[in-house]
Amino acid sequence: MPTRQDAPTQHTPPTPRRKPKPEVTTIGNRPLSPQTLMMGYGYDPALSEGALKPPVFLTSTFAFESAAAGKRHFEGITGKRPGGAEGLVYSRFNGPNQEILEDRLSIWDGADDALCFSSGMTAICVLMLAYCSAGDVIVHSGPLYAASEGFVARTLSRFGVTYLDFPAGASREDLEAVLAQAKDMAASQGGKVAMIYLESPANPTNALVDIEAVRDARNAVLAANVPIAIDNTFLGPLWQRPLDHGADIVVYSLTKYVGGHSDLVAGSIAGAKQWIDPVRMLRNTMGGIADPNTAWMLLRSLETVELRMTRAGENAAKVCAFLKDHPKVEGLGYLGMIADARQQDIFRRHCSGAGSTFSVFIKGGEAESFRFLDSLKIAKLAVSLGGTETLASHPAAMTHLSVPDERKTKLGITDNLVRVSIGIEDADDLIADFDQALMAV
Ligand SMILES: *Cc1c(COP(=O)(O)O)cnc(C)c1O
Repeated sequence: MPTRQDAPTQHTPPTPRRKPKPEVTTIGNRPLSPQTLMMGYGYDPALSEGALKPPVFLTSTFAFESAAAGKRHFEGITGKRPGGAEGLVYSRFNGPNQEILEDRLSIWDGADDALCFSSGMTAICVLMLAYCSAGDVIVHSGPLYAASEGFVARTLSRFGVTYLDFPAGASREDLEAVLAQAKDMAASQGGKVAMIYLESPANPTNALVDIEAVRDARNAVLAANVPIAIDNTFLGPLWQRPLDHGADIVVYSLTKYVGGHSDLVAGSIAGAKQWIDPVRMLRNTMGGIADPNTAWMLLRSLETVELRMTRAGENAAKVCAFLKDHPKVEGLGYLGMIADARQQDIFRRHCSGAGSTFSVFIKGGEAESFRFLDSLKIAKLAVSLGGTETLASHPAAMTHLSVPDERKTKLGITDNLVRVSIGIEDADDLIADFDQALMAV
């Protein structure tokens, strides 16, 4: 059967499968762009009957070329040798579609390695479990995606892991104070600061975290071996590359912009091998790898991710320019129109685009916001974001319903906040829709 591996002969040992041929990543001195590499990187048609696109490899297990090869592959799986398996073993560990996907995801973030998961939350939970032991402290920015915050506060706490959080815009000074407090807290619990976990921009407020300041504070107060992980779902992979600014591990819900068609659920992490390997070991044990069909769909999505995100970003800029002065709109939480000087400075250093997910503050409260949402004709009323279609939702009553009122107020999740994710429709059609829905308020 054709696989990504060179066909072994009887006399030569099988060659490692992951580099079946030298990958073309440059033309002369010119490094190829991610959008070019998305069409073929990591896949050799010659290994699959010449199929231009990778087949979906629906198999639970893979035949070894020899007993010695099987042993070698298991050494990689079990961690006897670092860096993961050289060959395909069993579909809870790896598979051709997932490995091609992981190779291509790494390219966008400039990472050595990536791991794909069955959901963004699986990626986040396995990542945290891989790094935390009883007595440890996680320091995180706030707000986080509600399920991430819940996993830290309600699940990890049952295993003796505690947390400290800080507001997204915190300064270098404030960050150092929080990390020093976390260090004392960990010492008193007989543990360590296990991870600094960020989400930027935060959902749904779009507050940005200063990744460079977090790195500097980490280096000053803790040690460089405390990983900084960041959920980059809202701006990645196109508009923010956190590994360039001091993060060690980048986390995605691929369900959003990367998948981009609201038709799959998946997640990933990427970073240097030293950070990824412990997570791979736990994924090997727990499972949670994306299935082959989902991985295949994501390969298709990655071919257009730059096109889709660029168009959605342009549309969002046009829609926000219209909403900004609308009499029924009180304000906007859009990264293209930041008022706060500190936030503007972080944006300028970290982001290459303002994204297409933002908050609209409707004049009034829940009733007015609901009337607006119920009047939309093109935009669909649904949670999630980053799809080809425009979506709108009400965080206080939906995604963040379980957040206590006091914390909601602190985080700025008000009753008149409507979250919008702009898609790739015609911008003027969207403006007409928003206008008529606002006039119905
Ligand atoms: C959706 C989302 C998640 C969770 O991802 P799933 O794929 O739904 O599990 C995590 N973080 C952010 C910022 C998200 O928007």
